[in-house]
Amino acid sequence: MIGILGGTFNPVHYGHLRAALEVKTIFDLAEVRLIPCATPPHRNQPEASALMRSQMLTLAVNNQPDLIVDTRELHRAGASYMVDTLRSLREDFPKQPLLLFIGTDAFNHLTHWHRWQHLFDYAHVVVMTRPGSVVQKIDAFFNARLVHDKQELAQINTGKLFFQAVTLLDISATAIRHMFAEKQNPGFLLPDAVIEYVQQNRLYQIR
Ligand code: ATP
Repeated sequence: MIGILGGTFNPVHYGHLRAALEVKTIFDLAEVRLIPCATPPHRNQPEASALMRSQMLTLAVNNQPDLIVDTRELHRAGASYMVDTLRSLREDFPKQPLLLFIGTDAFNHLTHWHRWQHLFDYAHVVVMTRPGSVVQKIDAFFNARLVHDKQELAQINTGKLFFQAVTLLDISATAIRHMFAEKQNPGFLLPDAVIEYVQQNRLYQIR
């Protein structure tokens, strides 16, 4: 099974990295692919370019061989829709379950994603706990796909919904960007190498 964690990663932080490592173990994944969103459809283009955000990811996962930075969205024009990314991943990995990991905050907006129902044609969706967010609604579409035993995700390649607790780390990229802008020290919220990259490139200086 392959794990997928998409995000803006603006910048990547320990909330992302710890969750990726935990689900790798919990679901016995061959790898977790961290996929920076090149052109986010639902927000303004981040100040840090897609290339810079992927470079920060590469610095962050340096010593973790099973966390892979996947830059496929950087090579695609137009808005970066996850459904297109999953279709492309499915071509690369035709014969095994794909697990798309999203935080609770992202799940609460999932029905606004482009062709969101079709995410389940290519992958399972696993919702990870995140401080400050509770699941708002599980409608009939989601209920029909919900499973309570993670073994079921290994038995079929796509189409299921699962909720997984991970260590609750109240860390967000927004708060980190604000800390940089306010000249506060964001140490221990994200890797030192990423902090150095932000400083060298003078990112996030204006709130
Ligand atoms: P921003 O503050 O800029 O919105 P973010 O910190 O939410 O950024 P994203 O890159 O947007 O980070 O998140 C990518 C994915 O990782 C989303 O599915 C999000 O829910 C999840 N995620 C981010 N931070 C955490 C965290 N601390 N714990 C669990 N999941 C997280």
